[in-house]
Amino acid sequence: MSAAPAASAAGSSGWSGVLHSRRGWLWGALLLLVAVLLGVLVFLAGEFEEARDQAALERDAASLVSDIRSELVRNVQTLQALHTVAPNPERWSETAVDLLIEHREIVRVEWRSNNYRLLAQRDTPYLASLIGQIRRDAFLPEVRQACDSAVRLSGPAFSASYFWPQSEGRGLELMEMCLPVVRAGLPDGFLVATYGLQGVLAELTNKELVRGRGLSFNEADGTRLAVLSQPPESVRSLSAQALLDLPGHTLNLRLDAPLLPLGLFPNVLTAVVGALSLALLVVVALLGRDMRLRQRAELEVAEALAFRKAMENSLVTGLRARDMEGRITYVNPAFCQMVGYSAEELLGAGLPAPWWPPERVDEYQHRRSLRLSGQNLPREGYESVFQRRDGTRFPVLIIEAPLIDAQGQQTGHMSAMLDITEQRRIEDLNRASQDRLQATARLTTVGEMASLLSHELNQPLAAIASYATGALNLLDADDERVARGDLRQAMQRIGEQADRAGRVIKSVADFVRRREQSREAVAPLDLVEAIAPLLSLQAKKQGIQLQIDFVPDLPSVWCDRTLIEQVLLNLARNGMQAMSEGQPPLVSGLRVLRLTANQPRLSAGRAGAAPAHKAWVEFSVTDHGEGLSEDVARQLFTPFFTTKAEGMGLGLSLCRTVVEQHGGALSFEPALPRGTVFRFTLPADAGPALR
Ligand code: ADP
Repeated sequence: MSAAPAASAAGSSGWSGVLHSRRGWLWGALLLLVAVLLGVLVFLAGEFEEARDQAALERDAASLVSDIRSELVRNVQTLQALHTVAPNPERWSETAVDLLIEHREIVRVEWRSNNYRLLAQRDTPYLASLIGQIRRDAFLPEVRQACDSAVRLSGPAFSASYFWPQSEGRGLELMEMCLPVVRAGLPDGFLVATYGLQGVLAELTNKELVRGRGLSFNEADGTRLAVLSQPPESVRSLSAQALLDLPGHTLNLRLDAPLLPLGLFPNVLTAVVGALSLALLVVVALLGRDMRLRQRAELEVAEALAFRKAMENSLVTGLRARDMEGRITYVNPAFCQMVGYSAEELLGAGLPAPWWPPERVDEYQHRRSLRLSGQNLPREGYESVFQRRDGTRFPVLIIEAPLIDAQGQQTGHMSAMLDITEQRRIEDLNRASQDRLQATARLTTVGEMASLLSHELNQPLAAIASYATGALNLLDADDERVARGDLRQAMQRIGEQADRAGRVIKSVADFVRRREQSREAVAPLDLVEAIAPLLSLQAKKQGIQLQIDFVPDLPSVWCDRTLIEQVLLNLARNGMQAMSEGQPPLVSGLRVLRLTANQPRLSAGRAGAAPAHKAWVEFSVTDHGEGLSEDVARQLFTPFFTTKAEGMGLGLSLCRTVVEQHGGALSFEPALPRGTVFRFTLPADAGPALR
């Protein structure tokens, strides 16, 4: 048995371990995926940026080329205009100066005849003695090449570029442009403009596009012809090339731009995506946590539900819930079993309920409406009778309470039902046995009364018998006068004792029936005096001296007079019997029976029997007889325990019951030098107010 839960616990911990490690793997995979995603994003963003920059660079290179081309075209027009306004070489070279001042890219203009003879020429003022350093004719082939192309194309044409060395190993890359000119419809030679390639780059390009970039003219093999600017130093750079396709010659323009170094997040996009990924991770983590909490809560709720269900199913109390219209919304198995219907049959059933006995439907409806209108459902519940499906009836105890939902609204009533058939059966059994007990008790009472009466009547009857014997003796006497007087007294005593016997019978009957005895305030001495004749009769017979020591001014005691007299009588008689006639006194003066009553003391009653403020008068009866052996002392108050042949063993038990009924206590102790003292207490009369 005990191995199973342990195994299942081990199994569940193993399972949770597997789950745990799988969750770790999943998290690792997720993190890896996000990291890869981020890496790819960074890479793609870098690529995208590079491609974008490259495209921009190429666009700019194309736009630069287009700028240069359009400026060159404008220059052609300017040159044509120069030729038009200057008809002779002198005038021409004057005008050409202005043109050269304005167009720095042109280092020299020449006007040549149709056979390439130089008619006029002008050098740029910015590069003094440029041409003079080397013979111009050395480069005539380029001029010719350009002019041949120009003639062929009937328009301006360019030569290939060539290096024009200067001092200190430096030089300029130049290019000729030849424009055939016409005057009055006839070819009028050529205008040759020599362009410095660097000047072209510097003057004919948009400065904005070049700023921070490298711009140069290159050969197809990459040799630099003219460089306007170098790109700033950087590890990587982008470069774009564009062809400057000129009539007769094509130049390669190259635009270089540094590639900005990539950071961890090279642009805002990557940073945002990174932040979003992180946020995604956090959200996933929170969701995971939330899911775990939810799962745990669901598990707890399921457990609580299962526990509640198990509890409801194992209950012997029937449970039933009704909505405000009286339709059943819930029943537990105990209730179904009680009424014999299944839960499916009962759920949704309205009023009258299927378990209501048909003839009581009206009564139950009325009772229900009363209960609901009052709203005060009795906490101790109410009893009712239900009818099972098979028609049998059974009593139930119903405890009803309002059903309050989470919003504090009452949604119906919940009732707990107990089948009280068994309880009823036990009650009936109890009642029957109670009746039998009472009958038995009555019989016992009769027996008890008979015993007590025979015990208590012994004395008056014995007294009557002895008075009667005395009277008979007197009748036989000679002296008639004396005899008459004594006879009267004897008759009187007989009457008194008969009267007393009557009272004893009544008192005993009252006592046995546990009726409230007739209590009264009695002076202690009166109690003794009432029994004094009987006592002295017996004392005289046994030669015992009666000694009555009642302290003066004793308060009255509150008691049933006859019963207390019987108590005193019983104790005194027992004492006298203990000093039997045959026994000579050990010490002279010990053949005495002493009756005493002492001043009241506080709280001398039986513990818990009377209020503490009560005062108690203590009576004692002392004999100097044989005393009590341990065995006798133990059984003293046991009814019917006696050591005497003619005894009944009821005297002391009666005495104790009577004294205790008065709230007092009866005790005994050895007397000195021998014998026994019996003491009992009675409540002092506290006056009418406190009785
Ligand atoms: P009964 O007197 O009829 O025997 P009691 O109940 O009065 O019944 O007394 C029970 C027994 O207690 C007596 O039989 C006697 O043995 C003993 N007893 C009672 N009073 C005394 C006494 N004062 N001295 C010695 N023995 C006593």
